[in-house]
Amino acid sequence: MLSLFGSGIGRGIAIGRAYVLKNNEIEPQQSNLDADQIPAEIARFKKAVIATETQYKKVLRQLPADAPKESAAFLNAHMMMLKDPLLVDESINIIRRDGVNAEFALQTQSNNLVKVFEKMQDSYLRNKKTDVQHITNRLLRNLMGIVSHSLDELDGEELRGRIIVGKDLSPAETMFIKEHRVGAFVTDLGSQISHTSIVARSLKLPAVVGLHGSSKYINEEDLLVVDGMRGIIILNPSDKVLREYKALQREIKERERQLNTLTRRASKTQDGHRIQLMANIETVAELKEVKRVNAAGIGLYRTEYLFMNRSQAPSELEQFKAYKRIVTSLDKTVVIRTLDIGGDKRLDFPYPQKKSSESPLGLRALRLCLNNMELFKPQLRAILRASAFGKVAIMVPMVSSFDEITQVLAIIKQTKADLRREKIAYDPRIRIGGMIEVPAAAIMADLFAEKLDFLSIGTNDLIQYTLAIDRVDDAVNYLYDPAHPAVLSLIKHVIKAGEKANIPVSLCGEMAGNVNYTRLLLGLGLKNFSMDATYLLAVKERILDADMAKLRKQVGQILRSDNASQTRDRISSLNHS
Ligand code: PEP
Ligand code: MG
Repeated sequence: MLSLFGSGIGRGIAIGRAYVLKNNEIEPQQSNLDADQIPAEIARFKKAVIATETQYKKVLRQLPADAPKESAAFLNAHMMMLKDPLLVDESINIIRRDGVNAEFALQTQSNNLVKVFEKMQDSYLRNKKTDVQHITNRLLRNLMGIVSHSLDELDGEELRGRIIVGKDLSPAETMFIKEHRVGAFVTDLGSQISHTSIVARSLKLPAVVGLHGSSKYINEEDLLVVDGMRGIIILNPSDKVLREYKALQREIKERERQLNTLTRRASKTQDGHRIQLMANIETVAELKEVKRVNAAGIGLYRTEYLFMNRSQAPSELEQFKAYKRIVTSLDKTVVIRTLDIGGDKRLDFPYPQKKSSESPLGLRALRLCLNNMELFKPQLRAILRASAFGKVAIMVPMVSSFDEITQVLAIIKQTKADLRREKIAYDPRIRIGGMIEVPAAAIMADLFAEKLDFLSIGTNDLIQYTLAIDRVDDAVNYLYDPAHPAVLSLIKHVIKAGEKANIPVSLCGEMAGNVNYTRLLLGLGLKNFSMDATYLLAVKERILDADMAKLRKQVGQILRSDNASQTRDRISSLNHS
């Protein structure tokens, strides 16, 4: 039995067998062959090519009927590459010419091809290098007899209930594995506030991230307990520990049952303030939970997930149908956030200035959309069209200047005019809001509040940018502090700006769903929360016994704390008063 420690995600506990991903870690060594060994080596290589093709065919056959069309296209493209003479025949030539082992020959030829693709002007062709690396890894595993897996070979049945063990997962991959009903995942990299973790929480997938390399102790088929609450993994647990964790799983279920009794209770503080509790969603699948907990609406719909795991952007029509489906199946306000691509949220298909968007300080979110009307316009049209079918609001992410707001408002006005001319229905009074995620926007919130219908504080990014720490880098994760006085005073400033302009201010970062901060946020004057639906009832429980007026007075002291441990102590006494 061995315990490994990282950052815990979600409240759940999973118990299951390890399914180890090792896609990036194969380093074949060179061995020199005698001339008479070469024919057998070539035969071994050809056998591995056939075995790889057979595996692809099996995965294709087992793709769930509702899997995105792109998954099959992806697999077919890889199968084609297995027949490409530039990869296969050239590797055989290297075995023959240099008298080296198949693994080394393949890796050499793969590196040559990757270099060629890297030099391509066209970003689509440049991205082809990833396909080459993928197929090489899989062939290498077959040649070397390594039992580990890559995500493109996921086999639905085999994966059910398994614990995925890997170096890192992207948000898109997390979506993908959840479709296969895995039990949990654990990774060496990652932080609690990355989008991968946010997706895991919303999918109720327990996880431990940031293991700092200790996942190497886990082998395929090891029995694992993943404690997503405390960030602990127990490797091959004793019977006693296993029993304790099973009891804990039962306790969690019991606690959920207790919270369920609150679904119909009005969300009101002891001193009578109504607090609006809305939900964040990434996909339509989460609506079930949103309805179950009786959320007041969707405060943040992260539309970018509609663009992931596919080879091109969804059309206006496809987006319209997706948005309409959400709007009509929930008879409550749906705040649709425009595309927030960039940082750790990456797309498979090429688009202009993709590289810059992958930096948190680059051309991401609204900046990207304002520079790429072919991405932005169809989305705005689709959202406006969906607004004819229910209560929709548009929210733009990561505004940082007044000019951006002026520009967005003008583009929306123009898009409305286009729709009017085309006699396509939309809600002419649709509300337009902005996310306050950049310190500049928080400081200028008064000005923004005059132009917009509502503000929503995105603390995940606001903390990242205020404290200058990359939210996905686990090396600086210890500095990620939602209760940092600078963050709290920015939140307070934005709430005040909203009150002054008489527009609603919500908070939709992960902080909104963390019960440790519920009273603190109430004390700062926050009346609208939007969070992962799975946290909503626990937050409501805190609200029901809170006295907002009293909290407002107590929080003044916290804002004056001069060090982090004093702040923590004061928040803790706030929570226990
Ligand atoms: C945020 O930054 O707080 C937020 C809600 O947006 P996202 O997590 O999608 O960046
Ligand atoms: Mg954000």
